[in-house]
Amino acid sequence: MKAKKKIIITIDGWSSCGKSTLAKQLGQALGYLYIDSGAMYRAITLYFLRNHIDWTDISEVKAALKNITLKFAYNESSEKSEIYLNDENVEYVIRDLVIAEKVSDVAAIKEVREFAVAQQQKMGKDKGIIMDGRDIGTVVFPKAELKIFMTADNAIRVERRFKELYEKNPNITIEEVKNNLEMRDYIDSHREVSPLKKAEDAVILDNTRLTEEEQLQKALNWVKEKCSE
Ligand code: C5P
Repeated sequence: MKAKKKIIITIDGWSSCGKSTLAKQLGQALGYLYIDSGAMYRAITLYFLRNHIDWTDISEVKAALKNITLKFAYNESSEKSEIYLNDENVEYVIRDLVIAEKVSDVAAIKEVREFAVAQQQKMGKDKGIIMDGRDIGTVVFPKAELKIFMTADNAIRVERRFKELYEKNPNITIEEVKNNLEMRDYIDSHREVSPLKKAEDAVILDNTRLTEEEQLQKALNWVKEKCSE
C-alpha cells in the first residue's frame, strides 16, 4: 500500500512489546523511512561507557555530546536503517544487556534528550516517516497524524526479549531480562523529562494475542483512515 499523502507515524510503548517489528514492517509496506530512536540513546550510552564519561556530571555530558555524531544508513540485507556512532556501525553492539542496563539512566538526562530530539525532528521534516520510542508522539512529533501506543502482557514481553538475547548470549537468564525490562519501564515512565506516557490522541495496540500479520493489518487500517481524512 503506497499511500499518496505522506504522514508521520509514531509508535511509543513499553520495552520489548514489538514496536520495532511493527515499525519495520509498516515502513516496508508504505515505503516510509523507519527510525529507531532508542538506538540513538543506546549509541550515546555506548559512547559514555567506552569513554568513561561520568554522566552525573553535566559539564562532562555536554562536552561528550560535542564529540558524538549519530547517523542512520539503510542496510539492504537487514532491510533497516542502521545506526552509526562517529562513522562506526554500532547497530548490533548496542543491543547488549550491558547497554540496556545503563541506557535508561542516560536517556533521563535533559541534555541528552535535547541532543537526540533535535535530530529526530529534523528527520521528520519531509514526513513519510515512522519513528518508535518512548516520547515520539508526546514530545518529538506532537502533531503526528497517527500515534500508536503499544503494550503487551509482561510475561510475553520478557519471553520475547529473552529469546532475542539468548541467541547471542546463552548465558543470559530469564531473571536478568525480566529485571532489566522492569527497571527500564520504571525509569522511563517516572523520569522528570519526557516520561513515557500515552499521548492523549494515540490509539492503543495491545499485541498480547495478535500475530505480527494481524497487528500490521490493524496499523495499516489506521494509516488508511488517516490518509483519507
Ligand atoms: O527502544 P529501546 O528499548 O531500544 O530503547 C532503549 C532505551 O532508550 C529505553 O529503555 C529508554 O530508556 C530510552 N528511550 C527513550 N526515548 C526514546 C527511545 C528510547 O528514552 N524515544
